[in-house]
Amino acid sequence: MLPEYRLFINGEWIATEQKSQVINKATGTPLATYSQAGPEEVDIAVTAAWKAFRREKIDPYYRYEILKKASELLLERHEDLALTLSQEVGKTLKEARGEVSRAAETLLLSAEEAKRLQGEVVPIEGSPGNTNRRAWTMRVPLGVVCAITPFNAPLNLACHKIGPALAAGNAVVYKPASTTPITGAKLCQVLADAGLPTGYLNMVLGSGAVVGDALARDERIAFYSFTGSPAVGLRLKSSIGFRRIALELGSNSPNIVHSDADLCLAVEACTRSAFANAGQLCISVQRVYVQRQVYDEFCRRAVDLTRTLKVGDPLDPATDIGPMISEAEAERAESWVKEAVAGGAQVLVGGRRRGAWLEPTILAGVTPEMRVCCQEIFAPVFSVIPYDTIDEAIAMANDSRYGLQAGIFTNSLDVANLCAQELEFGSVIINDVSTFRADLMPYGGVKESGTSKEGPRYVIREMTEERLVVLRI
Ligand code: NAP
Repeated sequence: MLPEYRLFINGEWIATEQKSQVINKATGTPLATYSQAGPEEVDIAVTAAWKAFRREKIDPYYRYEILKKASELLLERHEDLALTLSQEVGKTLKEARGEVSRAAETLLLSAEEAKRLQGEVVPIEGSPGNTNRRAWTMRVPLGVVCAITPFNAPLNLACHKIGPALAAGNAVVYKPASTTPITGAKLCQVLADAGLPTGYLNMVLGSGAVVGDALARDERIAFYSFTGSPAVGLRLKSSIGFRRIALELGSNSPNIVHSDADLCLAVEACTRSAFANAGQLCISVQRVYVQRQVYDEFCRRAVDLTRTLKVGDPLDPATDIGPMISEAEAERAESWVKEAVAGGAQVLVGGRRRGAWLEPTILAGVTPEMRVCCQEIFAPVFSVIPYDTIDEAIAMANDSRYGLQAGIFTNSLDVANLCAQELEFGSVIINDVSTFRADLMPYGGVKESGTSKEGPRYVIREMTEERLVVLRI
């Protein structure tokens, strides 16, 4: 008998008639079954959140204690969660372990923010005729927050939404990706065990089309926190009217390697990061612009390093690259590579596919309109593109519909400063790759990469209302 996962509503695990299977992404065998929600269950889940929020307010200090306890429980359950992530997503065990540790940190950072929510005194007496008034602001919770997460980092990205939402005093309805419901269920159990009052966290499982649309229609939801693809983000944004939304979307991240850079550092960082999580990270290295003087050397070293990486069973501690989320996704990425080759690109290394495993692949000779370059490939593939001047590299990096993070390797203060000024991205990372992220930093993109900043300290402002109080004395 396969284990069965259910919806989590009002503190209870709820089964439904319609079931789906969770597949082990490495073996292709079923891991578990789960209950799918329909519009009726979405309604019950939002009602539970709405009522919990109306029923009892949780004091900031208690929110801190719950989230801190949840962070500790994640660490206690570290190996079980890492194994789940590895099986459910196909992450290597070392990547899965890293994600659990980061998720615990994200919850701890969220816990700390619960104690820091504060307003400010407004010097209203400074306006003529207001000597008998005093004013201040308070940050108040919004009510029900809806958290929708993608498959690629299902634990930490869920913590980046649920943690700050609860820290702010909101109730949450959470919808994980259909491919990763077990991680979602285990996170709900952690928060319940940490003492979160009933109804403050509810999870609905099921297809984005059905569950997502029902969530979008429910006007009791005050705020949507969405991480996923631009197409789905735009659809959600277009259907929620005046209500608020934070979008964290995709990218085709550029990384610039200037001739004065530490080439060892640049090769190592770009190559390993491009293939981390089988390339399925929104800030994955995808376009690498290398100054012509060091281009051949960069390519040679990157190819040599790629050949040493172990592709295989994600549970083997020696494995560097596991399977992609599905064979269909690996086929899609492989077809983009083939299309680029048909258009004149060269495969320097990799390019072949076995089931859901796509070999780590480096392409040269790509042109800007090729999909491997202008769209988000979300696979273990990157392209190396030569440039002559830094202005040319910056122009090529900016020539994208996306703008999440960019990396620049240089030992010149002038070049670093120019890139910080001119690269049109949410973050510019100097002497490291676009893939760098610390969970406390403000994180989010421009253009089609998103509309907001995550990081508990930053997103908590979006998850609260600034209320002004004016007192006439
Ligand atoms: P996705 O297909 O857009 O799905 C994301 C979530 O949206 C899933 O839970 C999905 O449910 C749900 N969904 C689907 N249709 C929906 C609808 N009509 N209404 C509401 N929700 C709906 O993305 P993905 O393939 O899981 O993840 C990859 C994408 O996420 C990439 O573009 C990547 O760059 C982006 N990403 C961005 C960040 C960031 O912080 N900027 C971080 C990680 C990933 P189902 O699974 O049931 O379809």
